[in-house]
Amino acid sequence: MILKFLKNLLPKKPVTSKFKAKTKAKLAPKVMGRAEHPITRQNISANALKVLYRLKDAGFSAYLVGGSVRDLLLGLNPKDFDIATNAKPEQVYKLFRNCRLIGRRFRLAHVYFHSEIIEVATFRGHHAKLGNEVETEEGLIIRDNVYGTIEEDAERRDFTVNALYYNIKDFSIVDFHDGLTDLKAGVLRIIGDPYQRYREDPVRILRVVRFASKLGFTIHPATEQPIFESHALLQNVSPARLFDEILKLFHAGKALAAFKLLRKYGLFGYLFSQAEACLDQPEAEMAHKLIEFLLESTDKRIAEGKSISGGFLFAVILWPALQALMQDLQQEGLALFPALHEAINKVLRRQGQQISIPKRFQIDMQEIWQLQYRLAQRTPRRVFTMLNHPKFRAGYDLLILRAKAGEELQTLADWWTEFQSADKPGQHKLLKELAPKRKRRKKTPPKPKNVSE
Ligand code: ATP
Ligand code: MG
Repeated sequence: MILKFLKNLLPKKPVTSKFKAKTKAKLAPKVMGRAEHPITRQNISANALKVLYRLKDAGFSAYLVGGSVRDLLLGLNPKDFDIATNAKPEQVYKLFRNCRLIGRRFRLAHVYFHSEIIEVATFRGHHAKLGNEVETEEGLIIRDNVYGTIEEDAERRDFTVNALYYNIKDFSIVDFHDGLTDLKAGVLRIIGDPYQRYREDPVRILRVVRFASKLGFTIHPATEQPIFESHALLQNVSPARLFDEILKLFHAGKALAAFKLLRKYGLFGYLFSQAEACLDQPEAEMAHKLIEFLLESTDKRIAEGKSISGGFLFAVILWPALQALMQDLQQEGLALFPALHEAINKVLRRQGQQISIPKRFQIDMQEIWQLQYRLAQRTPRRVFTMLNHPKFRAGYDLLILRAKAGEELQTLADWWTEFQSADKPGQHKLLKELAPKRKRRKKTPPKPKNVSE
């Protein structure tokens, strides 16, 4: 049904005709009735439906919007279900017991259920004029004309495929910016003037990369070109927001594709300047391989429904930079572990200027890095302590990746692989094999006593 729906959607238009610059769609929106699209309520979260119906029954308009509509049309599982309405946040708040208002610049309502939070946003209007901010009792700064009509709300959204509205009143889909055409063609196109939209919020640059890689969409030339020229804008994004975006980018199931796009557009260096410096070297093949193997295995784990760890991701990306710094410090005369200690502090401090990595991730990274050196010290007492270390698995995984990327570690990596799966006697045998063989001293025959002495 979904494929048929996508195929039947405007099939006669040649693809090239869609690459005309489109700006504000002042025309009436396209509306697809219930019979013309494949979204059924069975595929919408029961909690989101509850919120939609309660808003509608209270006399408000209520729509499912954003990624959920896009993903349902593509036959994918939406990550979350966002709702847009003409009800003001305070009105939403009054309708739900389990509701909290959040947000400093724009107030949003979060409706809490056991396993899910449904975000309800009031239609957003155009930018307020400066000086129009008002402060609420709770100290929140909101702008008094921040709310608008559904048309204005659609215009404030980032991409045409993210601006589709599913109306709970009649189950139709409302499309103000020809998003359905772009969805069918697999095209990401920013709404409005791309330069201005990136300047307004540079995170949109990373969102292009995220959606292009995650959905396998092509980027419309007019949306793509400014990225090459606007990448420095990322410096204006707060390190905390960048952290959230990076995690979303690399944990969306297509991390390798995302990484390649980040490098293609010259964005990677604005996020990880230390790692970028390692990738720039003429002998950077190992660093490239390491990151590529990491992202490949991240994608594979996500596809298999396995857990993934942010600390591990950052530890691997920054490993070549840490090693380079270690080398310098050791050449300056520092011993191994003091050099490691200093290198870890420096790498984390420098990285923190670009992306703020939460403390608990930093602790994981430190432990994973320290294990790289400890895993080489295989004395019987240490080996069993390491095996029980909470970060042992992550440390071992990085060791494997490093060996695969070409570091001379295969023997060590194989030893640990064998050691983990061996039974107790097997483990002791492996340890014994490591013990340096004591040379037996040849017994020198006692000197014959000189009888004459
Ligand atoms: P995902 O599957 O990752 O959740 P999404 O499209 O739902 O994708 P969200 O970050 O959940 O992305 O945002 C929901 C919607 O809000 C988007 O689809 C888009 O319409 C709008 N939106 C989010 N961030 C921005 C932004 N920076 N600029 C403009 N619109 C945005
Ligand atoms: Mg979403």
